[in-house]
Amino acid sequence: MNHSDSERVSHILEESGFVPFKDQGMEYLGKRQVVVDSVENPAKNKDIDLIIFNTCSVRQKAEDKAIGVIQEMLKDYPMAKIGVTGCMVRQTGAKKEAKDPLLQHDFIDFVFRIEDCVKLPKILENIFAGFEASPCHYEDDSYFNIPPNVTNKFQVFVPIMQGCDKFCSYCIVPHTRGREISRPMDEVFAECQTLVKNGAKEITLIGQNVNSYRDKGEKCFAKLLRKIDELHSEGLSRLRFTAAHPQDFTDDVIDALAEMKTSCPYVHLPVQHGSNSLLQDMERNYTVEHYEEIIRKIREKIPGVTISTDIIVGFPGETEEQFQELLDFGRRVKFDFSFTAIYSPRKNTAAGEMTDKFIPEKIKKERFHKFDEVVKESAWANRERAIGKTLEVLVEKSVPLDDGLFRHSGRSREFFEVYFTSGRNLMGQEVPVKITDRQNYILNGELV
Ligand code: SF4
Repeated sequence: MNHSDSERVSHILEESGFVPFKDQGMEYLGKRQVVVDSVENPAKNKDIDLIIFNTCSVRQKAEDKAIGVIQEMLKDYPMAKIGVTGCMVRQTGAKKEAKDPLLQHDFIDFVFRIEDCVKLPKILENIFAGFEASPCHYEDDSYFNIPPNVTNKFQVFVPIMQGCDKFCSYCIVPHTRGREISRPMDEVFAECQTLVKNGAKEITLIGQNVNSYRDKGEKCFAKLLRKIDELHSEGLSRLRFTAAHPQDFTDDVIDALAEMKTSCPYVHLPVQHGSNSLLQDMERNYTVEHYEEIIRKIREKIPGVTISTDIIVGFPGETEEQFQELLDFGRRVKFDFSFTAIYSPRKNTAAGEMTDKFIPEKIKKERFHKFDEVVKESAWANRERAIGKTLEVLVEKSVPLDDGLFRHSGRSREFFEVYFTSGRNLMGQEVPVKITDRQNYILNGELV
């Protein structure tokens, strides 16, 4: 989500007259958004005018790290004005005119909520004396209507909704990103179509809760998937999405995934825990049985599908018994991957207030490793089964080696990470790779 937001911020900055600063080996889109040099002095790197940090507040650690990184970068770019956006920002504005707590840091000049990024040219005119932004026009002044400066033309991210209405007890997102707002289907389709015309082979639809997507009041994520699937005839090969919620993972979505030409046999479905009582404390509003039933249907209808999830270990009050339920659950479901997090308290969330139930760090870490072992067992066994098979790999990196060959890496349709070597640059191409062996979560192969 942040990566995609940064692509929109980047576009707005370029349109209002800034140019991106690029340096060898450094990347400026993604977690750190560094934009700019003045057009007149492109060579004077130390004089870059503006750095915008797109922040994450999913954990306290992420926030602390962002502040550290900003201070660190200021040593290299002392003349730059510093802006901050993303989930850490509560109120758009510059010093004096806004009360956002981030502005108490001397080194932050302005902040803006990502939904307000259309206001960026005006903010910058106030920040830089004498600067007049080129006029930017976006339909309805909507953040969604800012065209992204895509990083990789062949692999793009398209936001379909913002915010979340679920209010899980540990999560800050509904408080930072606000309530759910979906983008009209026609608008999403038009953006996807333009991206496909420009070379997109893989589209990932993104949002905090994609399967509660609505158009004209109707809940219709499956319809949206099928609509975008029409772009297969124009060159779209893969359609992915993240993140989904088990409560809204309806049969029509599974049917669409089983029938569409562009769907991939991979589903990421965050469950968070394997104990019903703990899921209740997390306010996740579904049961383990319901989750497993969805997985059963997905596996029945989509042969060879891979499944990943998100898990939190060490949630306040998690008993040894509940943790054992999680281990048993992991053994039953046999995940292909889990993004497992150790619970970290967030201020202003219900779980963050349960201080008397906090689990000691040592136990949380032990539980993390125990669950990780369970996931590894199934994830590695599932990957072993791919050995000898030929998988379609979309090449995301082609690095030249000393001997004239290229080392490639990319993802198969099952979302396996695959490495192989060949004699030419294959960046952005989808190629058949025969899998030869496994190294932890990674598969190695040979170009067919
Ligand atoms: Fe946070 Fe996801 Fe729960 Fe929404 S559904 S509150 S984004 S964890």
